[in-house]
Amino acid sequence: MNDNKDYFKVSKHKDYLYVIKENISVVHPAYTNDPLNMYLLLGSNTALLLDTGCGLYPLKPVVDELIGEKNLLVFNTHTHWDHVLGNEEFGEVYVHEKEVAIISKPYDVSHFKDSPNEIVNKYAEKNFLIPPAKVINTLKDGDVFDLGEINVEIIHTPGHSSGSICLLTSTGELFTSDVAYYGDQFLPKKEEFPQVLNTLSELIALCEKQKDLELYPSHRNYPCDMTLLTDLYNGIKNIENLWDTKKDFEFFNRWQIDDESGKFRYYISKV
Ligand SMILES: [Zn+2]
Repeated sequence: MNDNKDYFKVSKHKDYLYVIKENISVVHPAYTNDPLNMYLLLGSNTALLLDTGCGLYPLKPVVDELIGEKNLLVFNTHTHWDHVLGNEEFGEVYVHEKEVAIISKPYDVSHFKDSPNEIVNKYAEKNFLIPPAKVINTLKDGDVFDLGEINVEIIHTPGHSSGSICLLTSTGELFTSDVAYYGDQFLPKKEEFPQVLNTLSELIALCEKQKDLELYPSHRNYPCDMTLLTDLYNGIKNIENLWDTKKDFEFFNRWQIDDESGKFRYYISKV
């Protein structure tokens, strides 16, 4: 697969919204949250790309073809590897202020050295250190960007990571990043669940206020409605009752707990 046109799956979801999909299981089979959804919003004068993927094939040519002459902003929803490794291509990216340090230096992906998948040779060519973007700008809660006919507001939603953000558009979309999706959930240690639940209840309150919001998660199915948030909230609350069923998942060095509903599996940080 040498042609990136065959690698990324691009679909036009609305006049102003493209989804660029990438399967992250190609890097290591332990990652099952396929696909990763990167969203491209087209305002009348500025385009906004949410996340830059795994950095295996050039993404910028794909984006350039879709945006024409528009300016481009690139945001990272958070700094886990599958969302940031294409940053270098774009030169300038935005991320929440709490995670700037993580993507200001080369990103270490040496934990993929033993992957059975040959594609990691692409990381080996870079010594498993993926260069950062040259310029990194900061985002904070409440920041608003005018793309022309579409405004986008940053909502700081800590829990999945300290600087995770969601994006609320004036056109009725809520991009939930990795804060909520159906699939394997990467959660902080148990003591930090109250923050995760607090973030989810704030998003639920937002959806109750703005009844017809559509939710666009960064993994798997989209769009979703607020049931995704309540399902996840109830699922995480219930982990307490399943705690004795936890298994050690060595590759992630996390506790694994399977949700009884089959909607989620939890990988919980031990420290
Ligand atoms: Zn992710």
